[in-house]
Amino acid sequence: MALRVGVVGGGQLARMMVPAAVELGLDIRVLAEGPGMSAAIAATAEGDHRDVDVVRAFARDVDVLTFDHEHVPQDVLRTLVEHGVVVRPGPAPLGVAQDKIVMRQRLTELGLPVPDWAAVHDQTELRAFLDAHGGRAVVKTPRGGYDGKGVRVVTDASDADDWFTAAAETGAGQALLAEELVPFTRELAQSVARRPSGEIVAWPLVETVQRDGVCAEVIAPAPRSAGRLADEAEAIAVRIARELDVTGVLAVELFQTDDERILVNELAMRPHNTGHWTIDGSTTSQFEQHLRAVLDLPLGATGTHAPVAVMVNVLGGPADGDLGARYPGALEAFPEAKYHFYGKAPRPGRKVGHVTVVGEDVDDVVFRARAAAAHFDD
Ligand code: ADP
Repeated sequence: MALRVGVVGGGQLARMMVPAAVELGLDIRVLAEGPGMSAAIAATAEGDHRDVDVVRAFARDVDVLTFDHEHVPQDVLRTLVEHGVVVRPGPAPLGVAQDKIVMRQRLTELGLPVPDWAAVHDQTELRAFLDAHGGRAVVKTPRGGYDGKGVRVVTDASDADDWFTAAAETGAGQALLAEELVPFTRELAQSVARRPSGEIVAWPLVETVQRDGVCAEVIAPAPRSAGRLADEAEAIAVRIARELDVTGVLAVELFQTDDERILVNELAMRPHNTGHWTIDGSTTSQFEQHLRAVLDLPLGATGTHAPVAVMVNVLGGPADGDLGARYPGALEAFPEAKYHFYGKAPRPGRKVGHVTVVGEDVDDVVFRARAAAAHFDD
């Protein structure tokens, strides 16, 4: 019988697991939030991932349950495990990815390099943090943020009043995360995959470019990163995967600072935007690898097809909403580009697809990937 994987969440990450599952001959099912989700190309159930009965019913006849996002509540995850569902990654590692304060605490305990941080409960504590950090800080809501939503640069203790008020309304003394504003020279990301029996593989370290808090481009491997930097990034990601018992893909977002130091920003325990290039640029894509890893199958090779791969996101798409009308021009202009769209309606700032080009020379490949993606903008 085919191995059965259930994916909670119907976004583009679940969607991109589908072709990998088809090639491996896996039976993949998706629990989508509602109709018309990206992953509706797979056998799809619809329901609320916060409802334990819904998720239990979905998980009843799969061999392993995994995720398109990190939002399934801890009590739901723990109930599933109590009832014998194989959940990967498990509730403990997911608990770290779900809360940026918990994440900072665990990374600090592990002695890993992170920005200076504090959990702040009110204006007074934020003011103290600002005073200690030159009057500037980054404040983050610990839960539910993505793509820069829930991240704000503040220069005054009152700049986060609305979030303090919202946190107070949710009760339980919710704090905000205050961090030093890191003067990074660039952002990097290191992806690894780990299976329950312990095997770990790593892809090359990549450089990521964010615009307005959203990943815009990824260059693989990161230019000027061979040697110490790449080794250090890989060692950090491997250590996190082992210590937190992560299974599946783990993406570690990093800041590189002036002095060649790297600091850990964020963790994602699932395939990640910074790994999309692996579909066209690596022997094993992050989506195939995630499925292999959560099923505890031997992991695939992570070598690259070419010296450089560049992925550019299509953010928003054309104002007239007609992506299809742009295909003839784009596909003709850059036949070497690989186009990936997520079945999502264009909307300002929304990730609707991405384009990957591989080649020999970074500048040339960046140019072609950007130009190909630009066919879908206005
Ligand atoms: P999200 O979970 O919404 O993606 P992140 O914590 O990854 O939020 O932050 C989004 C972006 O904001 C980062 O990629 C980076 O560009 C910027 N950023 C976040 N934290 C800091 C920081 N401490 N110092 C400087 N820039 C930051």
